[in-house]
Amino acid sequence: MQTVQVSVVTPDGAVYEDNVELVIVKTVEGELGVKAKHIPLVAPLTTGAARFQKEGTEEQVAVSGGFIEVRPDKVTILAEVAERPDQIDVERARVAKQRAEKRTQSENQELVNTARAKAALLRATTRLRVAGKE
Ligand code: ATP
Repeated sequence: MQTVQVSVVTPDGAVYEDNVELVIVKTVEGELGVKAKHIPLVAPLTTGAARFQKEGTEEQVAVSGGFIEVRPDKVTILAEVAERPDQIDVERARVAKQRAEKRTQSENQELVNTARAKAALLRATTRLRVAGKE
């Protein structure tokens, strides 16, 4: 099958680079799948796992914010924050998840920024899933 070059970069540097058959990302408008020769586009990303498939295998990177830029021969994910499974500190993500859950369930909702707590919860659960711990 035809492949497309993909890279995930953050302000801290490159996180992932490969030639893959299919890229799947979460844009703010929903899931987007990209193969070689896709029409060019730029779309904003939400928090989620970016998935890279080739030869029957799949690799994942936890992504939070940024953009995907699609060109027919190259896909670039310019992420605000991104981690490969081997970069994820599982204990830190578990603690972040618990903290965010407490905040979303707090009875003192006026003292809690619910949207912020929900976003933190999504980042933590995405990291645990990508790390294979949830
Ligand atoms: P925390 O509350 O644990 O700081 P967060 O979701 O608020 O988590 P972010 O603002 O998304 O953290 O990321 C800040 C920096 O910390 C980024 O460089 C990100 O890659 C890194 N980071 C956050 N959580 C983890 C984790 N569990 N494992 C590895 N790196 C992490």
